[in-house]
Amino acid sequence: MHFIPYGKQWIDKADIEAVVRILHSDYLTTGPKVQAFEKAMAAYCGAKYCVAVSNGTAALHLASLVLLNKGDKVLTTPNSFLATANAILYAGAKPVFVDIAQDGNIDLSLCEKILQTDRTIKALYPVAFSGKMIDQQKLKELRETYGVKVLEDCAHAMGAKEGDITAASCTNSECSILSFHPVKHMTTGEGGAVTTNSKEIYEKLLMLRGHGMIKTSKMKPWEYEMHDLGFNYRLTDIQCALGLSQLEKLDIFIKRRIALAKQYDEAFSGTMVKPLYTYNGKSSYHLYVVQVDFGQCSISKEELFVKMKAKQIGLQLHYIPINKQPYYRSLGYGKETTPVMDQYYEQCFSLPMFPKLTDCEQKYVIMTLFEVLHG
Ligand SMILES: *Cc1c(COP(=O)(O)O)cnc(C)c1O
Repeated sequence: MHFIPYGKQWIDKADIEAVVRILHSDYLTTGPKVQAFEKAMAAYCGAKYCVAVSNGTAALHLASLVLLNKGDKVLTTPNSFLATANAILYAGAKPVFVDIAQDGNIDLSLCEKILQTDRTIKALYPVAFSGKMIDQQKLKELRETYGVKVLEDCAHAMGAKEGDITAASCTNSECSILSFHPVKHMTTGEGGAVTTNSKEIYEKLLMLRGHGMIKTSKMKPWEYEMHDLGFNYRLTDIQCALGLSQLEKLDIFIKRRIALAKQYDEAFSGTMVKPLYTYNGKSSYHLYVVQVDFGQCSISKEELFVKMKAKQIGLQLHYIPINKQPYYRSLGYGKETTPVMDQYYEQCFSLPMFPKLTDCEQKYVIMTLFEVLHG
């Protein structure tokens, strides 16, 4: 058996040909493919605007510069990749870590309690963890009642739906962000995007992506003006061509992820391996997370990871609580009361989940997991 990682891209001949065509063309970057990709991505998500950027972290950075002011307090989750909270710091704002609910997403009821008592909180950064939609009704209520700005981190959730609301449509948020890292739903190598329905936010994002610079038809041919301290966070035409080609297969990728999730659900039903949630129609399954009570087990989580790796299976852990990272501890974080996150962190791990995973490989993963857990 060859090594089975927890996540992996799917690149086919059409993707390779799309990239090669750009290499033969006039524009390697900032050509026609960027706008075509942005348009297709906005349409897929059901948002008015999309700005493609160099990675998901850059997307979080730019969106945070547009949405936040220095010193703003922002509610966010400890259960995410570092970049979600880091972006709040990039903008000179202050993350406030809130415990998670049983599904791994930030506990929005707890957020509401905090919003009731602390009117200095200006924004909310939830993450659609593992691909499960953030509760849209609750988001709507929080925005309407408390006037907080919302950025949805949808890096895990492309194509997820709740009713007729698609992830990153920004139906109940100012902005959403996506990542096109190879382990995510579709890839551009590195890449990311911000979606929004606000023209004003869209224009600020475009300016910040390109050095804070603007050029209008009224200016002299050589003129450009810098209006803000921006960056070079452009995505290339090479990458956008790959993205367009991947986007055509996205629904097939997601269908396969859901089929694999249902098969895992079935295999673990009534066993010591507890899925974070079973299929509920609201997840596009970037991750398949399970929980095991290692207190009731003959091996530790560390031993499980080592033994599975020896059998060619890559497990991962999503996530180490961000607020407990040494850097965050150095800023005074890490002592928040987060009992659900603490227990979740003890018990959770992620199993291989990617569209190229075959039924045969998945059966091997399941069989090996039980074998190793039962010593
Ligand atoms: C991957 C990821 C990001 C960052 O995306 P990059 O493209 O790797 O910069 C942000 N948030 C979450 C939840 C992610 O999983």
